[in-house]
Amino acid sequence: MKTAIITGASKGIGKAIAYKFAQNNYNLGLIARSETLLNEIKEDLKKSYGIEVLIYIVDVSDYKKAEEVVDDFYKRFSRIDVLVNNAGITDDKFLVRISESDWDNIISVNLKSVFNYCKFVSKYMIKQRSGVIVNISSISGIVGNAGQTSYASTKSAIIGFTKSLAKELGSRNVRVNAIAPGFILTDMTEKLSEEIKNSYLDRISLKRFGTPEEIANVVYFLCSDDASYITGQVLVVDGGMI
Ligand code: NAP
Repeated sequence: MKTAIITGASKGIGKAIAYKFAQNNYNLGLIARSETLLNEIKEDLKKSYGIEVLIYIVDVSDYKKAEEVVDDFYKRFSRIDVLVNNAGITDDKFLVRISESDWDNIISVNLKSVFNYCKFVSKYMIKQRSGVIVNISSISGIVGNAGQTSYASTKSAIIGFTKSLAKELGSRNVRVNAIAPGFILTDMTEKLSEEIKNSYLDRISLKRFGTPEEIANVVYFLCSDDASYITGQVLVVDGGMI
């Protein structure tokens, strides 16, 4: 059976990705900080799809913990086919209001986490001469967004990271791609005001927001053999916003 590690799997897009891979018979390693949510998901996935699920209650910015998680997962399954770096936060503020600790925190959670998990997982993917990594960026990292200098910086950096790592790992049969979602209905966007939501809606060609499942389907496609000749790419999934 194939295996996948998914960060930020307790809700939103990460949870939808977990269900998509479970439906396709993957054993899973799910990472987040909310133990109750991850336990509920684990029990439901095991019952509904008969797969094995390991959960890790850790902060993705923790380098040492990342190594422990990846080693533990590999010890259990002896292979890592897929890594999805999905965990992320927003901290919308105009630049003049961003403190040093705000900046350091978002860089750690959104960007250092990608370094952490790619570094430790790629060691095993290189060894097994196969694997696929998908990093979740954002359209903010491509076109920018007022109030998101810190968030957009992390999401742009993920694109540069993805393209570089794809070049490093291509010869080992490991593919690395990014997805840049637009406005997706999750807790992250739920907190925005109606005024801001409507201003986004006006700019979306399809005239509706995206669902977590619509991102999960694209993640699954990029990890499947149907995408076997795609690496180093950023796939925009935004209903035609940018
Ligand atoms: P969400 O509903 O807020 O979920 C975020 C996930 O990340 C949760 O599972 C959360 O789990 C986890 N997480 C956050 N900080 C963490 C930390 N320090 N350590 C471990 N896990 C952490 O957000 P979402 O909308 O699904 O977003 C998922 C990804 O898509 C993010 O990278 C986001 O930037 C990106 N994205 C979202 C949108 C959108 O419109 N929603 C658009 C573009 C890109 P815990 O709280 O349990 O730790």
